[in-house]
Formats: sequence, C-alpha cells, structure tokens
Amino acid sequence: MTDIVAIDGPAGSGKSSVAKAIAQELGFLHVDTGAIYRSLAFAALRAGISLEDPGAVAQLAASLTQINPSPEIRTEKIGDAASKISRYPEVRANLLDLQRRFGLQSKTGAVLEGRDIGTVVFPEARYKFFLTASPEQRAKRRLLELQQRGEPANYEDVLKDLKERDERDQNRSIAPLIPAKDAVLIDTSDHSLEQVTQKIKDLITY
Ligand code: C5P
Repeated sequence: MTDIVAIDGPAGSGKSSVAKAIAQELGFLHVDTGAIYRSLAFAALRAGISLEDPGAVAQLAASLTQINPSPEIRTEKIGDAASKISRYPEVRANLLDLQRRFGLQSKTGAVLEGRDIGTVVFPEARYKFFLTASPEQRAKRRLLELQQRGEPANYEDVLKDLKERDERDQNRSIAPLIPAKDAVLIDTSDHSLEQVTQKIKDLITY
C-alpha cells in the first residue's frame, strides 16, 4: 500500500519547497496538485474556453492526463485563473481521480501538496500537515520567487493578489482551504523552510 503524506496550505506558505525536500528525503514521489489546476487553467485559456463556463472547463478536466511541464503555468495570470476554476465542484470532481492516480502510482509513497489533500483527495493519508504563515511573509516569499524567475512584480500587487486568492480558496463552497481535523498545523512565518522540513521529518517515522 502506498504511503501518503499530505501537505496543504495557502500560496507562499512554503509547502512546495518543504514537500519537495520531504519527498526527496523519504525517496517518495512528489506530486504538486496546484500544477494540475494550473495545467487545466492554461489549457482552457489556450483552447479559448471561458473560465466562467464550469461545464466546459469540467469537460476539459475530464480529459486531462498530465501536468504541463512548461514554466508558463507558473505565472501569476495562470495562478489566478487556476484559483477561479478551482471553485467549480464539477471541475474538482473531475480532477480527483487524476490526483489519486498520481499519488498511488508510486510503489513506495508519495508526498502530495495542495489545498485539500488531507481533507478530500487522501483523507486516509498517514501523515497530514497544514502550513500557514502571515500574508505579509507569504507575499515576500512569492515576490522573491517571481523575481528569481524574472517576472516583473511588486510587493503591494503580490500581497493584494494573494489576499484575493486566499479569500476565494477559503470561501468556496466545496473543498475550501481548511486544515483536516487530524492535520499538524505549522506556522512557518518565523522559521526557515529548512527548519520546517526538519520539524516534519522528525514527526514522520517509518
Ligand atoms: O498551489 P498553487 O498556487 O500552484 O495552486 C494554484 C491554485 O489551484 C490555488 O490558488 C487553488 O485555487 C487551486 N488548488 C486547489 N486545490 C489543490 C491545489 C490547488 O484548489 N489541491
């Protein structure tokens, strides 16, 4: 049986870096489920499908089989589009199977990062973590990431965008961004991502 480690949290909470490091440490597969939503948003825009048409986006979701490896899915524009389409129940339903298949394809185990891994995608995950951090701290991290990729951005815009996205992710009717009851909550505001990774490593015992 594949072991699943669920790492959920909002944008900029550090979950990507931590999930990657934990997966490497354990020899597990790393699955970035945000990239699945981003790949779908990117494909919808490219196909000229309106992000306001849940049925058409859901149909496209049903035919999605892989994550788009292009760096283009990492832009703020696509992140925003992903957040918009992720509020549709039929889109989320049509992406569930794909996320589970990605996780279960590893013979050893998988670390999945996202928003609802511990609550919806793998509620039976052996380990569940929910990372948080202040919006200001998350915006700083996000700005640095964008700058490193050469994307023009300023702190105020990033903070505003992040708060809007939080609002949408937390208040959607289905699979809102909330910690699973049995998740370990970790505030990463005042800790380096190395410290957070270490803390999670200490809690995982096989
Ligand atoms: O994690 P990332 O910022 O790349 O995710 C992009 C968007 O995809 C999020 O803002 C969120 O709305 C959506 N998402 C989701 N459920 C997941 C992963 C991502 O709703 N499991």
